[in-house]
Amino acid sequence: MPKIVLENVTKKWGDFYAVDNLNLVIDDRSFITLLGPSGCGKTTTLRMIAGLETPTSGKITINDEVVFDSETGVNVPASKRHVGFLFQNYALWPHMTVYKNICFGLQNINEKMPLRASLYIKYIRLSEIVLSYQLIEKLVNQSINKKGAIDKNRAIIALIDEFEISSFAAKELFEIHFEKLLSDKEKEAKAKEMSDKFKTKADKILEKYENKGFDINKDGLVVKNNEVVVTKRKLDVEEIDLKIRYVARVVKIQEFMDRYPSELSGGQQQRVAIARTLAPGPKVLFMDEPLSNLDAKLRLEMRSELKRLHLDTNSTFVYVTHDQLEAMTLATKICLINNGVLQQYDAPLDVYKKPANLFVADFVGNPAINFVETKDCIQKENGELSFKIFDEIDATFIPNTEFDLKEYNNLKEFELQNKEAHDKHQKEKENKDKEFKYSISRISSTNEDEEGKQVEFVLGIRPEFIKLENDGRLDGEIYSALPSGMETIVKTKVGTDYLLTGVIFGGVDYKINAKAKINFFGNEIMLFDKQTGKLILQGKLKIN
Ligand code: ATP
Repeated sequence: MPKIVLENVTKKWGDFYAVDNLNLVIDDRSFITLLGPSGCGKTTTLRMIAGLETPTSGKITINDEVVFDSETGVNVPASKRHVGFLFQNYALWPHMTVYKNICFGLQNINEKMPLRASLYIKYIRLSEIVLSYQLIEKLVNQSINKKGAIDKNRAIIALIDEFEISSFAAKELFEIHFEKLLSDKEKEAKAKEMSDKFKTKADKILEKYENKGFDINKDGLVVKNNEVVVTKRKLDVEEIDLKIRYVARVVKIQEFMDRYPSELSGGQQQRVAIARTLAPGPKVLFMDEPLSNLDAKLRLEMRSELKRLHLDTNSTFVYVTHDQLEAMTLATKICLINNGVLQQYDAPLDVYKKPANLFVADFVGNPAINFVETKDCIQKENGELSFKIFDEIDATFIPNTEFDLKEYNNLKEFELQNKEAHDKHQKEKENKDKEFKYSISRISSTNEDEEGKQVEFVLGIRPEFIKLENDGRLDGEIYSALPSGMETIVKTKVGTDYLLTGVIFGGVDYKINAKAKINFFGNEIMLFDKQTGKLILQGKLKIN
């Protein structure tokens, strides 16, 4: 079932289209990254879904509930959309401890939810856990400070995390002090005695509920006439503590709960901010470049944390970034936007391997893709396309799928004639001129089309498709080489002054200006229409 649906969503400021007719379906439990260059409309899109920005037109549905519809005038406020936010400039309260920072939002929750017999659950759990007295003793004994004494705080954290209980329950376990008892027999007897005590406490609580005509089900929820009682209420302290401890465990900040934000590193503060956002258990979590303030190493670490968090929480994540690597590594699907217009919405590897157009091909991938223009293209009888590249080198493209150049040109002609409506819309769009223009890598950086030069297609060659081999058919010269240990990025000069960037596995020591022979590897070389920018075909490229 789709979680979030955007239908024809547009946001205009005057004639400036920040978001232009966006249609998007975000599936439940997916991790979506909104990716694109600065100012392309990512944040605006996120803010519109979250309810922090009002679209000019369109419809937004979250969990089958229409939260915005320009036609019917529906506009559900942000606070009622049950979503969590995490922004770049997360502000922790400086005068509150980490615990209080996370607690604050939870204390303010006051909404309809099932009634939970928290104390009953606590004592039932304790009556079971206490029988594992050997483990409790081990955890306490392991929590030793520098002076060799037992550190109460650490012991309690260890108990909280091991048994996934609240700090109140952990304190009760700690206070039994199994470690102070001498014989195993004594410990066992104590465990049984305490288990009975906890059970009695739970029974008394149950009795109170029963006297009032309620029951408690196996999940600890209060039941009346076989129905879970739902009531508008606040969270109780046990529930709040359990939620805080859970998120603290997830983002690994258990040991900092009593510290103030100023006593934490940037990365630790970031984790607290994430924990605070996650604590109420939002089903949808919006994040706007939440890692951009962190150093490179921590960013990498937090990325894998976020990915794990996504799995652990079963939530839907919508994440804004302009960092393509971040988008690639985190997302189940990337939504790539340029100039307010959706370019492609696909799984990261599909975006990389089958980019919808020149912009996507260029934006995704590091080192960037090589674009090579073709001219004098003709189709041979066997379906292969033959053309010239780098001005005068004869090459052949062998498509993976059947392709008829004549038919393609006719179809394109027809499509271009039908573009009037689109052009009209473009004309009134103030930001129409910001269309993407691909660039060809050349030493003398002339990117203008030479007069009379007929370019029909643009080849897209990923750096890993370039091989330097003894029997390479394309002659070149090493222009630069950047070995990084695991791989080497090599730029070779071909033709008059064109540059091709390749990635060669391993640390190879190439000599600058040395002769190089190049082959194009694999059958995923892309062929784009130069005029429309769209990907038409993929296949093999051969130098004749
Ligand atoms: P960045 O990566 O730099 O944060 P972004 O993709 O998130 O960029 P948005 O913040 O969504 O971009 O902005 C999209 C466009 O809308 C930008 O060109 C911006 O200048 C413009 N814009 C945003 N807010 C307003 C506003 N209140 N009034 C006018 N224009 C705005």
